[in-house]
Amino acid sequence: MKWTETLIPTLREAPADAEILSHKLLLRAGLIRKLAGGVYTFLPAGLRALRKVEQIVREEMDRAGAIEVLMPALQPPEIWQQSGRYETARDVLFKVKDSANREWVLSPTAEEVITGVAAGEINSYRHLPKNFYQISVKFRDEIRPRFGLMRAREFIMKDAYSFDVSDEAAQASYQKMYDAYARIFERCGLKAFAVDADTGVIGGKFSHEFMIPAETGENEVVFCESCGYAANIEKATSGVPKTAARDAGAAIEKFATPGVVTIEGLAKAPFNVPANRQIKTLVYMAEGKLVIVLMRGDDQLNEAKFAGKIGTTLFRPATGDEIFGALGAYPGSLGAVTTTRKGLEIQVFADERLRGANEMTTGANEDGFHLRNVSIARDIQVSHWFDLRTVQAGEPCAKCGAPLKLRRAVEVGHVFKLGTNYSEKFNACYLDEAGVRNLAVMGCYGIGVTRTLQAVVEQCNDKDGIIWPLSVAPYRVCITPLNVDVNNEAMKLAETIYRELTGRGVDVILDDRDERPGVKFKDADLVGFPIRVGIGEKSLAKGEVEIKQRGGALQSVKINGAVEAVMKLML
Ligand code: ATP
Ligand code: MG
Repeated sequence: MKWTETLIPTLREAPADAEILSHKLLLRAGLIRKLAGGVYTFLPAGLRALRKVEQIVREEMDRAGAIEVLMPALQPPEIWQQSGRYETARDVLFKVKDSANREWVLSPTAEEVITGVAAGEINSYRHLPKNFYQISVKFRDEIRPRFGLMRAREFIMKDAYSFDVSDEAAQASYQKMYDAYARIFERCGLKAFAVDADTGVIGGKFSHEFMIPAETGENEVVFCESCGYAANIEKATSGVPKTAARDAGAAIEKFATPGVVTIEGLAKAPFNVPANRQIKTLVYMAEGKLVIVLMRGDDQLNEAKFAGKIGTTLFRPATGDEIFGALGAYPGSLGAVTTTRKGLEIQVFADERLRGANEMTTGANEDGFHLRNVSIARDIQVSHWFDLRTVQAGEPCAKCGAPLKLRRAVEVGHVFKLGTNYSEKFNACYLDEAGVRNLAVMGCYGIGVTRTLQAVVEQCNDKDGIIWPLSVAPYRVCITPLNVDVNNEAMKLAETIYRELTGRGVDVILDDRDERPGVKFKDADLVGFPIRVGIGEKSLAKGEVEIKQRGGALQSVKINGAVEAVMKLML
């Protein structure tokens, strides 16, 4: 490709609304352009890189035995009602209306469609296992689209869905996808790692996310350097000790705490109740019902864990008035001690770390008062005990005791063992050898293809621009003649090398723009071509060209060895 015949509109400065480095670089390198928040056009060079990522994904899916299909982005809402996700996923579903005012859902994933296909087309164990995948546009009504392709409203995802005869067979399918994912990210030049992930409100069996370490990542990952434990903070647990039980027996005592409405306030003089001897009482409104959550004063509720336990993400902190109406006090003086509560029908979820705790302090459900000497077992009716806390850095690893660390990361892929959730709802059954009808056991597996592309840019760059790995570079080689007069030696040689490399199947771009060398070199570095062949009069006079690897050293090579030298760099 000749530079003047394509469109790579590089920019010296990134637009002001580009927040993170990779987003700025994609814009500055002329790879994408914004249409609206979270909606982007891929320009020619960006599309080339995207197609390469897609191709790697496709090859590895095929290699793992998955078969490609293409499902509609436009889906009838009835199937979303059938799965129950019309409600549970309503905050991300894009809906459109047709001219007859009929509603449609724009696909954020495709479990509903593929399970319907499987229900209709698969009926014998002989048809299984099957794993269907597609690479297609997905839509999600993200609350905060941001960071370019990282969190978009419209993006490209590879989604795959496996169907198996048994749990054991499903596990093997899962492992195949897990292994394929590791290969995909490696081939894209990414250092990805897998972490234990939350299975969310779908409540599948288990799942792993593939993460790319990045300061700007929206995920927090807990990991142990000593034993290799790694989990999303939404799922992570640690070996923190339970709250020490003290000599029990003392009766509850109410004391005045005028104006004290925080854990910190109570921890200070004159009260001096350490945070770890306080019970924090949180009140949520979940699908129209109030729920009380008890945490130790120094712990934070993990909302993802909580969502998993109550089975919905549709909850919010209750308002002061809702709380007052139910408990008789405002936040800051709340507690769950049975004798102080009206509204005993409200469910109480308590964090495991509080189990067995006594001599605790908590709100009295009377503004300006707290209670001391509270024993959970004696004084509070807990409906459910769960692990609900957020792990903090430095806590001991539950497996080996070493201190846990935290780091931020971008989720690029997700493998998920679904079980029979969807097969039940869509009646995806098969007849086994004995002629007995069974539900197919499913798994689902996603890769954010456009997000992965940006993750490569986030990980592979320097002060001058992108440093594409060979595997996904829009062009592997950029030939830069410093003088582009058609009758010029440099241009003639550039054309010759261009033809030879192209003939050998290499993606080459010839920078035939009539620009100053400095501009061309800067642009080649910014767009990030892995190999640059510089052809200027000075080196030509010595019978040489200059070959430079992006981010590497410059070497002078004899003209007739130039093509070989470039080929060698691509091995
Ligand atoms: P996130 O937690 O980042 O919102 P998710 O867990 O909802 O993602 P999945 O449903 O697991 O995402 O989708 C599979 C993959 O699709 C993700 O691993 C991610 O790479 C990609 N993806 C999800 N949402 C977006 C988005 N809004 N923009 C770009 N890629 C996305
Ligand atoms: Mg996910």
